[in-house]
Amino acid sequence: MFGEDVSLSFGLNRESPYSFKCQRCGICCNNKRIVPSPSERARLAAFLGISEDRFIAEYLNPESGELRSTPDGDCIFLGPGSCRIHPARLLVCRLFPLGLLRNQEGGEAFGIMPLHPDCLGLLGTDGTVGEDLKAQGVDTLLENERQTK
Ligand code: SF4
Ligand code: SF4
Repeated sequence: MFGEDVSLSFGLNRESPYSFKCQRCGICCNNKRIVPSPSERARLAAFLGISEDRFIAEYLNPESGELRSTPDGDCIFLGPGSCRIHPARLLVCRLFPLGLLRNQEGGEAFGIMPLHPDCLGLLGTDGTVGEDLKAQGVDTLLENERQTK
């Protein structure tokens, strides 16, 4: 297990020991401020079978560009107990609880974000950061981000 000193230090790389088993309870999908990138907007619109304009109008806050929330703060895509768009979920949702910092030269560093106090996920060291990124489909999305910049 990681000690608290690792959290938020962004001291992990792809070879670092890491594993996380999310139980998909949806508890942490509340009070999030997520701004989908242009490639994510297009991808989610395609997943939902709607135009990008309609996606923006229905799912994004017009002032901030963030995903809309319900009055009680839940992400607009949170269904009964879990994410309604799980196969197409956003990059930040796939990474969580990993956070990613990238620089202009393509360098990257990872850290572990604080978990919700009621999170049922299992944080451990059964694999590596790189294995988790692959399992979550993160690299494909990062490549999409690079191509649309
Ligand atoms: S998109 Fe899905 S996984 Fe991400 S915050 Fe919303 S409900 Fe949760
Ligand atoms: S609270 Fe923990 S177990 Fe539940 S969805 Fe979030 S990360 Fe997964």
